[in-house]
Amino acid sequence: MSERYARQALFYGIGRQGQQRLMEKTAVLVGCGALGCTSANLLVRSGIKCLKIIDRDYIEESNLQRQSLFDEEDIEKNLPKAIAAHKKLQKVNSHIQIESAIVDLNPSNIETLLHNANIVIDGTDNFETRFLINDYCVKSRIPWIYGACIGSTGLTMNIVPTKTPCLRCILENVPPFGTTETCDTEGIIAPIASMIASIQIAEALKILTDNFDTLSKGLVKIDLWRNEIKRMHVEDIKEKADCVTCKQQKYEFLSRNTYGTTTSLCGRNAVQILHPHGSNLDMARLAARLEKVGNVSFNSFLLRFKTDKYELTVFPDGRSIISGTNDASLAKGLYAKYIGM
Ligand SMILES: [Zn+2]
Repeated sequence: MSERYARQALFYGIGRQGQQRLMEKTAVLVGCGALGCTSANLLVRSGIKCLKIIDRDYIEESNLQRQSLFDEEDIEKNLPKAIAAHKKLQKVNSHIQIESAIVDLNPSNIETLLHNANIVIDGTDNFETRFLINDYCVKSRIPWIYGACIGSTGLTMNIVPTKTPCLRCILENVPPFGTTETCDTEGIIAPIASMIASIQIAEALKILTDNFDTLSKGLVKIDLWRNEIKRMHVEDIKEKADCVTCKQQKYEFLSRNTYGTTTSLCGRNAVQILHPHGSNLDMARLAARLEKVGNVSFNSFLLRFKTDKYELTVFPDGRSIISGTNDASLAKGLYAKYIGM
């Protein structure tokens, strides 16, 4: 075993055997924002076999305060988060396999993206995606680790199918859009994201090395500003609850048809639109067409088009993030006008 992991293998909870196990494992990270950057960094350094990074977004200036894998050059180059993270992390550890996908995780692609995961790490910012992950992981019996943070407060919980309650046992339904606070309306300090992600990855290391006995139990809530750490015991909920997902085995989020739908993005004054059938856009051709009506820049990962007060970011698969509005029908109109279906 290489010297690289010597200190980790020396640690009593992991040992050489644990390190060997770790080196055979694949982790999938969904969402590479503040939580995801710290998680990805810790996972890659720990020496797992493969890390798959899924993220649908590009980097903005307001991300740099807390998303520790990104820098100003990434913004100048218009890099998607998944690509910037991939490039940086491969320099950190050239021995492990890193894969990146610039996509919106949805029912149509979740099987392809998650099927070989030994663990799934939540770095998302919305409940729609978390419930989808929960459905898939409960159905496929893959452990996943919920994480969320806002302001100075963070939450995390291990979900080990058949052994612990699932996310749906605890939160029966998706909180309606606009009723939950977001980082864009409430702000966030970076240390809470590092802390929650660090707990998530400590738990991941336990799961990936088969140390299930030492797993943290229940929902952990930390507020770094008020100096509070709470643990909510939810273990017996599983017995009491008639959970739609893990008791009734109805996977409602997996069976949703998301094509053609629009999503308002986490309080960002932006709307995401999926291409109805997926697409394979010729970025250069689209750029040439749009240059006549607005300001265009593009690379092989995305095309940015500014017009009036709106900015359209288009990905090769036809997916688009339209910023400057929260109005889904207005965004659809802009998409139809400039990109076309
Ligand atoms: Zn459940």
